Amino acid sequence: VEEINALRKQNLITVLGKDVPAPIKLFDDLRTSEYKLLPRLLENLTSYGFAQPTPIQMQALPVLLKDRALMACAPTGSGKTLAFLTPIINGLRCHKTTGLRALVLAPTRELAQQIYRECGELTKGTGLRTHFISKVSEAKQQYGPECKQKYDILISTPNRVRFLLQQQPPLLDFKSIEWLVLDEADRLMEEGQNNFKEQLDDIYAACTNPQKRVAFFSATYTVPVAKWALRHLKNLVRVTIGVQNS
Ligand code: ADP
Ligand code: ADP
Ligand code: MG
Repeated sequence: VEEINALRKQNLITVLGKDVPAPIKLFDDLRTSEYKLLPRLLENLTSYGFAQPTPIQMQALPVLLKDRALMACAPTGSGKTLAFLTPIINGLRCHKTTGLRALVLAPTRELAQQIYRECGELTKGTGLRTHFISKVSEAKQQYGPECKQKYDILISTPNRVRFLLQQQPPLLDFKSIEWLVLDEADRLMEEGQNNFKEQLDDIYAACTNPQKRVAFFSATYTVPVAKWALRHLKNLVRVTIGVQNS
């Protein structure tokens, strides 16, 4: 316990929640019996050549690999993308025809596209298929119901997703969603002009699998995100990296 606390302190990791899994020190720790990361995923991760996980990766990876709900706050540029893509890919393991099993939402197309690219790297050799909705009109014509079987992971902005969900018949099916990640969650939870908040409520309602894992990632800790997470998610873990400013 002392060692765990020291590692957290040293990396400015603050945790809130019951029985929070210990942080990892090295990516190689994910090879150990407890996590048994997919060999191919570990290989892809290693091929980046990163010397060690960033603080958010040290703590968020074990939390998500243990299927816990997570609210994570860590500075921009601290490697949050890998911290959520790795557990998703490990959890899904291989391509299935079930339909979409993971949904990652980001506030802008550019951010969604960056995540999509990173996901391409990380899923190499796993057979998992990732989809990025580049245009709603195309999605309507080309993917439609097919999209439900062809892809495992969907990365998008909320507006498009909600639009496709609202079509009759709906052009997306989230019944099988096992992983829901909101990146830049503080922005996604804003009530202002974008109406992200309302879009998210609709999308969340469409993910009907009670076993789904939910994770929020953002640069800053905000009260609306914490409130929403605490109200909706059981057994939540909150992780904050950096000096506490409150
Ligand atoms: P964030 O979402 O927190 O702003 P990103 O996930 O976009 O950060 O990552 C920022 C950069 O850091 C990317 O270029 C990524 O490849 C790199 N990176 C990710 N993990 C590590 C690591 N463990 N060590 C060094 N660089 C990393
Ligand atoms: P973005 O997601 O960047 O805002 P899109 O072109 O993907 O841009 O479409 C965004 C939104 O525009 C959709 O979520 C929907 O609300 C609206 N929209 C797109 N196509 C149609 C359409 N054919 N009919 C009605 N609304 C549409
Ligand atoms: Mg990011």
